[in-house]
Amino acid sequence: MKCSFCEIEMEEYNHNNPEPLLESSQRVCSDCNCLVTAFRLLSRQQNQEIVPELAKFVSSVIQLSNSFKRTNFALSSRAQTFVNYSEDSE
Ligand SMILES: [Zn+2]
Repeated sequence: MKCSFCEIEMEEYNHNNPEPLLESSQRVCSDCNCLVTAFRLLSRQQNQEIVPELAKFVSSVIQLSNSFKRTNFALSSRAQTFVNYSEDSE
């Protein structure tokens, strides 16, 4: 099973409930669960009526950020492949 935020493959024991940032049917890794725990703690101090909207917003920020990370990784991997290829052909 993959983490619903960062998409790493998780061990069975490492599945965490991501509510209220994601649906209870989804699971997140222990790293991403730190974000869920931080949100739960800090959202206690908020007006509870706006917490569902805050959760949607924070969840979108995390998902977009992880998407940027994957793109950066893919680009740097491709750049590294090119550098290796260039060095091999010299
Ligand atoms: Zn994760």
